[in-house]
Amino acid sequence: MAKILVIEDDYYIRQNILDLLKIEGFEVFEALNGAQGVQIAKEKLPDLVLSDIMMPGMDGYQVLVNLRQDEKTRAIPFIFLSAKEDRPSWRQGMNYGADDYLVKPASIKELRQAIRTRLDRQAAAAHMYSQKLQTLEEKFRHLINTDSLTGLPNINSFRNSFKEEVTNLNSPGYKLALILIGLGRFEKINQALGFGGGNELLKAVARRLTNFLESHNQNLKIVASVQTGKFAILSTSESQAHIVDLANLILKDLSEPFVIEGQEVYITPFMGIALSNNEKKDFETLLKQAEVALTQTLRKVLPNLQIYNETMECSSLEHLLLESNLRHAVGRNELELYYQPQVALATNQVVGMEALVRWHHPLRGMVSPAEFIPVAEETGLIIPIGQWVLRQACAQAKAWQLSGLGSLQVAVNLSAHQFNQPDLGDTIEKILKETGLDPDLLELELTESAVIHDLEQTIKTLNRFKAVGIKVSIDDFGTGYSSLSNLKNIPFNNLKIDQSFVRQITSKPEYATIVRAIIEMAHDLDLKVVAEGVETKAERAFLEQFRCDLMQGYLFSPPLPAASFEELVRQRKI
Ligand code: C2E
Ligand code: MG
Ligand code: MG
Repeated sequence: MAKILVIEDDYYIRQNILDLLKIEGFEVFEALNGAQGVQIAKEKLPDLVLSDIMMPGMDGYQVLVNLRQDEKTRAIPFIFLSAKEDRPSWRQGMNYGADDYLVKPASIKELRQAIRTRLDRQAAAAHMYSQKLQTLEEKFRHLINTDSLTGLPNINSFRNSFKEEVTNLNSPGYKLALILIGLGRFEKINQALGFGGGNELLKAVARRLTNFLESHNQNLKIVASVQTGKFAILSTSESQAHIVDLANLILKDLSEPFVIEGQEVYITPFMGIALSNNEKKDFETLLKQAEVALTQTLRKVLPNLQIYNETMECSSLEHLLLESNLRHAVGRNELELYYQPQVALATNQVVGMEALVRWHHPLRGMVSPAEFIPVAEETGLIIPIGQWVLRQACAQAKAWQLSGLGSLQVAVNLSAHQFNQPDLGDTIEKILKETGLDPDLLELELTESAVIHDLEQTIKTLNRFKAVGIKVSIDDFGTGYSSLSNLKNIPFNNLKIDQSFVRQITSKPEYATIVRAIIEMAHDLDLKVVAEGVETKAERAFLEQFRCDLMQGYLFSPPLPAASFEELVRQRKI
């Protein structure tokens, strides 16, 4: 049943209209003046507003302007109902953006028709919107599941297929193998053939693998490109020997020459295989094991096929050392935060920064977070590290505010493990209190893998943040399991488009289309959009045209130590 709000100061006219509408089967709300009308409209979000123009206090025009300014009430159809028959007031009403104008006393027929027309149009628009969202969702799903160079499924898609296969892994003795293929000498070949030739070669390898798969389809399930120059195959079999035979056939097939730009090119394929027997290993474990095995083949050169076994883990002594050193990193003051400016595209002003942690390792020098954050996650060390980062970032933002650098928003990355700590809310509020930073200036960056774990709990936690004014962004959007429809239900403030998307907008029209659509959709959901990894003027120009709000990237500045960041912002101010 459609809901209609009637704003009219004259008691008799109001009652008359309300009665008519009730008979027509509408649910009605009434307001006796403009101010009350605005309040009820925002509270009840009716499907249509019928409003008088001349009322004491706030008049009908002001009501309309007010509703059009608010995101929530902007699209509600608005019909003026007025005794003023003269043309100027009709025109004025329409100029303010009214959808229709009825002259009192309106007949039932007129009233009914005006309301029906508006409601039907609104329904058609809503239908179109949901269809648009669905097409967008399909295109998006295709992009995030496909390797753009080879057209093969990418790692997201591979992960999903793996999960499906695992559910079938019930019969005893049944084995699931993850075969990882690396191309030896690929860098050299790439140099010799040039960038375009290198890409052609990867496409040719992808085609050959696909053909192989098609001719041996009983046991080989899927081939994917999991990283540039790295392919993966999922295979099922009852015996390890059979898997090895198949793997050798693939190696042999790949050792045949490729013809690229008229030249014969030979590659040296390497294989790392990880097996899962009855015990169910998860995808990430199996992939990691296949990587370990692959690394072994690359080191030893021959033989070029290795099956993972536990003794290989000794080689990850490095990993162990990294872990034991990381334990002391906070205590020994080896961590430092770098800050990367976030710039408003419209004004070119720095409005905030993302805090990115760096580790000064006593022997290895600077270690990238991409390397040590995963170790910190695995070992739980992310909790003390994460707290240090938060405290440091909040204290720095407060100090900059006090020193007159401005009220800059500071964005802090939270890893999945951190986000799922039950006392996270308390920890953050405590840090805000200690550092004195206004919660409005803190933004938390979460990835999809962190939030989809327990959607209900996520929404609860985020609502708690929202209540105190802390902002929340979805980071690396487009790399995960992104569901655009899910996004609607989670109270985010910002959406950060991953650099892998930004990187393609200038060269691939389908990426440009999808990025534009994502920005529009995000705006519809009241989210601000941040583009990550903007490196060129051309990328910037596209983003500006698509009305992206903020950007971050080397084009403007890389992440900087605190002192250099401060200098950059100060210099831009003079
Ligand atoms: P992220 O949150 O997506 O951060 C953006 C990454 O892109 C940063 O890498 C940044 O240096 C890099 N970047 C920025 N502009 C450009 C550009 O124009 N081109 C390219 N190619 N790269 C650009 P960084 O600093 O190595 O951090 C990597 C990741 O490590 C971050 O990705 C984030 O997920 C994680 N990380 C960093 N600091 C923290 C932290 O304090 N806590 C947690 N949990 N994770 C962190
Ligand atoms: Mg981030
Ligand atoms: Mg990111």
